[in-house]
Formats: sequence, C-alpha cells, structure tokens
Amino acid sequence: MDTKKAESKYLMQTYNRHDLVVKKAKGQFVWDENNKKYLDFFSGISVCNLGHCNPAVNTAMKKQIDSFVHISNRYYAKVQTELAESLMKKSFPDGKVFLSNSGAEANECAIKIAKKWGIDHPSKTGEKRIEIISFENSFHGRTLATLSATGQLKFHEKFKPLPEKFVFAKFNDIDSVKKLINSKTAAIIVEIVQGEGGVQIAGKNFIKGLRELCDKNNLLLIFDEVQCGMGRTGKLFAWQKLGVKPDVFTLAKALANGLPIGATVANKKTSKVLMSGDHGSTFGGNPVACAAAVAVLKLITPKMLKNVSDKAKYFIKELNGLKKKYKIIQSIRNMGLIIGVELDLPGKDIVEFCINKGLLINCTHENVLRFLPSFVITKKDIDFTIKILGEALKWQMLKK
Ligand code: PLP
Repeated sequence: MDTKKAESKYLMQTYNRHDLVVKKAKGQFVWDENNKKYLDFFSGISVCNLGHCNPAVNTAMKKQIDSFVHISNRYYAKVQTELAESLMKKSFPDGKVFLSNSGAEANECAIKIAKKWGIDHPSKTGEKRIEIISFENSFHGRTLATLSATGQLKFHEKFKPLPEKFVFAKFNDIDSVKKLINSKTAAIIVEIVQGEGGVQIAGKNFIKGLRELCDKNNLLLIFDEVQCGMGRTGKLFAWQKLGVKPDVFTLAKALANGLPIGATVANKKTSKVLMSGDHGSTFGGNPVACAAAVAVLKLITPKMLKNVSDKAKYFIKELNGLKKKYKIIQSIRNMGLIIGVELDLPGKDIVEFCINKGLLINCTHENVLRFLPSFVITKKDIDFTIKILGEALKWQMLKK
C-alpha cells in the first residue's frame, strides 16, 4: 500500500505531516521516495545534530547491537556507566544521572525529584512543598505531568484534570516569579531557549535571578535542555553559556543523535532524592542508545562547538540581510544554531514553499520560522537556505 494511505489507515492521526516520504538520509541531506534531495535545516527537531547516519555514531551502535541490544536494569551494563561517567564529568562530577527514553520522561523524572525533595524538605511551618513554577509558552512534553508543566494552556484543555500543581510565571520577568513563590513552592522549571514557544531566549540576568531566588528560598532550579542542549547553543549545555548551574537538568533529543534516550542529570544535592523503588524504566538507558550517546559526547569537541557559533554568526548576518529587504520579518532570535525568524503572518505557506524547493525548515508558534540545522552544514548550505528563503519571502510579499 502507498505509504501515505497506509499512514492514514493504520496510524493514529496525531501528526500533521508534510507531503514527504523519506527514503534515506545522510549528513545534512534527506532523499524522498522519488530520489528528490532536500537540505535538512530541521534535523528531526534538533535530534540528528551531528548529521544523519553519522559514521562514528553508526559504528558504535552496530558494535553494541552485535554484543547485546537489551539487558534488564536489574543487571549492570558497562556502556550505561560509560555514558553516565562521560555526562557527569562534563556537568556535575559529584552528581548522578537517571537514564530514560525521551524528553518527556527525562522531565517526569525531574518533576518527581522536585516533588519528593519538596516533601522531604517541608516549609518552616511544616507544609509539604509540592508546587512547581513553570513559564508561559513553555513546552515540557506530552505525558500528563509534563503537559501540566507546559505553559501553553491550549494543550491542557482536552485533558483536565491534570496532575497538580504547576503555576506559570512570565518568561524573562523575574518579578512575576517572585509573586508566585510561597510556602508550598518546591522548584522552578525553565527552558533557557523556549523552542516550541517560538524560539524565545532567556536573558542571562533572568536566569541568574532565578538561581538567586532558588538559593534564597531553598528551591530546586531545573533546566529543560531537551531541545537546546547537546551543543546547539555553541556550548555542550546551554547553562554553560550563561554560567548558571541548575540543580537538575534534562537532555534527550540529540543525546544519541537519533536513537531514543533521555537523561535527568542531578547535582550532588539532588542525586540521592530518588532511591530504590522510587523510579525506573524497562528500556531506560538502552545499551544501543547509550553506545550512540557515548560516541556523540566524544564527537562534540571544543572545535565543533566553535564551528556551531561561527556558522550561527554567518547565518544570522545573512538573515539580517533578508530582514532589511523584507518587512514581513519582525525579528530574528537565536542562541547558536537554534534560530527563530518571527514573521507578521503565519509561516505555514513559507515552510511548504521551502520544502517544494528542497529545503526542510519548520514553523513554530504559528508565525516563527524555526531553523535547527545539523552541525555539519557548510557555508554553501546556509547560502542555499538564504536564497530559497528570499524567494519564499518575495513570493509572500507579492501575494500580500
Ligand atoms: N522539553 C522540550 C524543551 C522539548 O522541546 C520537547 C520536545 O519537543 C520535550 C521536552 C519533549 O520531548 P519528547 O518529545 O522526546 O518527549
């Protein structure tokens, strides 16, 4: 059966898919079933950051597949500890990590840490601390607790009542956070870059202010780096760019460059909140995904991170050139290679135009074109993107 027909017949219709059936992908390119080639500036939503079918990652995965694919977490697996050691040495050498399978799961674990910690450390008046402050426009996942933590209330409507209790402050507004802190508050969860919320970038002073508030009120600070982590900002972790340490941070998407994995990284203070029986996952820390992630962490060198920053600078310079020419562009926001171009109209048609011309990009939050290219892109790839985008903007202007 034709793939598109089979999809609509057999898969739950939860995704709005583009008219593209993928046949293969390599590096920064994707081919469809008619062998049409596309330049991929979306990378599977910031997953294949090191390019599709990265040779070193594939070799590591294949080697692990031939050893063993799964073993229960009741036993030890060396590859899991290799990944944990590598992650912890690069973040909190005296902390610990829990390995899961996705971004939502990584955040669920962080939420459980916050809740248990808040219950174990009640307020001065003896109240259990079970409230978590999140932010308007945030996105933390699709499971019930992470949905509840997500500050885009349109996603809540059909699933109420949701797990309690999340309250929402205004992003980049420290006073709005202060107003929400009370004797029941346990933690603050925030994305340094709100990817699904329209590529909104947290200010350094705002994040510093959150750290100060957490220290003053004995709250946990949780960074959701599921989308912006793993080198995308020009640092391995986005918090390293701002010089502000969280108590817990979460990773997923690009950690294994395409295999499902999630990681909840806890500092020393929070590393023993969850103990035997408190949390678990059959597939969590899958050996093949761990082997891929070990290879990924070896590949993200200072040289590669500098390349991310250099490519981002060039891309932003060229995008600013388009902004001068096309008034449709309202603003350009980025932290490294997570880039949003806000338009004064919906971006859907521009995305379709680009796909037809062989360029994969995305639109988030209705009117923000989002670019998440892999780190293997060249200057030539950026020039191609600017050319196609320029054509798309011109076409939109003529339509207006
Ligand atoms: N957190 C952030 C910041 C995300 O961008 C996403 C997914 O887009 C998630 C969590 C959820 O990750 P997953 O889809 O792997 O569950």
